[in-house]
Amino acid sequence: MSHQISYWEKAFYDQADIVIVGAGLVGIQSAIALKAAMPKRKVWIFDKSAPGEGANLRNAGFACFGNIGEIADDAKRMGMDEAIALYRKRFEGFQKLKETVSEGQMGFEQSGGFEVFRKGQEAEYEGLLNEIDQINEGLFDLHQKNTFLPKPTARLKINSAENGFYTPFEGTVQTHLLMHALRNKAQSLGVEFYEGFEVEAIEPVSLDRHLVKSVKGHSIECRVVLVCTNAWANDLLDTEDIKPARGQVIVTSPIATIPWRGLIHCDKGYIYARTLGTRILIGGGRNVDFKNEETTVQKSNEKITDYLQEFIKDVLTDEQDFSVDYEWAGIMGMSESRAPIVKEVSGGLYCGIRLGGMGLALSAEVANQLSELVLEKYH
Ligand SMILES: Cc1cc2nc3c(=O)[nH]c(=O)nc-3n(C[C@H](O)[C@H](O)[C@H](O)COP(=O)(O)OP(=O)(O)OC[C@H]3O[C@@H](n4cnc5c(N)ncnc54)[C@H](O)[C@@H]3O)c2cc1C
Repeated sequence: MSHQISYWEKAFYDQADIVIVGAGLVGIQSAIALKAAMPKRKVWIFDKSAPGEGANLRNAGFACFGNIGEIADDAKRMGMDEAIALYRKRFEGFQKLKETVSEGQMGFEQSGGFEVFRKGQEAEYEGLLNEIDQINEGLFDLHQKNTFLPKPTARLKINSAENGFYTPFEGTVQTHLLMHALRNKAQSLGVEFYEGFEVEAIEPVSLDRHLVKSVKGHSIECRVVLVCTNAWANDLLDTEDIKPARGQVIVTSPIATIPWRGLIHCDKGYIYARTLGTRILIGGGRNVDFKNEETTVQKSNEKITDYLQEFIKDVLTDEQDFSVDYEWAGIMGMSESRAPIVKEVSGGLYCGIRLGGMGLALSAEVANQLSELVLEKYH
């Protein structure tokens, strides 16, 4: 039997002025911006699950500005100017995130990042040397120095090809601290969170009003609805160019002899690894099985987790005697285009989605644009 809606429930939910669906990086930051601009409005966030179901507590915690291999790969699809512009958006977006949550609050460490190549991939490195000047020139005004430097990887004492690239700007956050800080900030402004509220449909009732319907039969009519459900966006919109893309992460048991600290990318950014105290966190590997990773099933793919473990053993440490203490999968929203979608879908219904694997860097700007769109019409 479906849930019976009480008189009080109906009256309770009917109070919302602005409904945001999805309590992830985009949903929470949009709520913060809107509540700060309109303190009297009731800004409510609904999420189908407790924190952790979306990608927000399942990512790898890289600030994620990009590396030479990834930028050159992007350039093949979108042209070099666009690929460089994307790095810039990521870097500037992360600076915007820091306006809401300080570096200390999110455990940010500017460790610098290496891009390494496996033995046998030297030609790939040599090829990228032809691109580095153009990329550095395109970004020079951003950092007032070269963003990427060719560097021998000897300092890392890993089993990679001899040469790679280094950038001093990359860094990592402690994802759980970031999410706590964002939630606390939102709550301190008066944003209300309702978890366990799965939205089933959003239906127009007039030119500028929508009905938000839950799977349990609630229906809330309001003037502003933001869909911030990223990978799941088309469950509610069914019109946007976005597909789910699963990502995996593993974290090893403590390893006595990790010779390097900080973060490492390989395979055009498809593999990313960082130290977590005495453990190694490694993620990615979607390129090993693209087709099967186009799913919302939140379960690790053994082929990929084996691949990641092999990478640790072959490249990242001589220590072969470790176990996997944590293993998880999370779902991103992507498409061929690497740009997020931020728009008014129809009168009063907005979306901020398609963050790819770059949510830490891009979410603050997406939330900013989304809230500006709302504020243009509704104050
Ligand atoms: C394995 C992995 C590693 C990653 N590593 C990094 C990284 O190192 N750096 C980086 O920048 N990015 C990384 N990302 C990407 C980053 O986590 C995402 O870009 C970011 O979390 C997207 O934020 P979001 O708010 O758009 O969506 P999400 O964080 O996914 O939030 C969407 C929310 O919507 C909710 N929801 C969905 N459908 C409904 C519904 N019908 N009703 C109610 N609620 C609903 C979900 O429960 C979820 O909480 C990684 C992602 C994965 C999966």
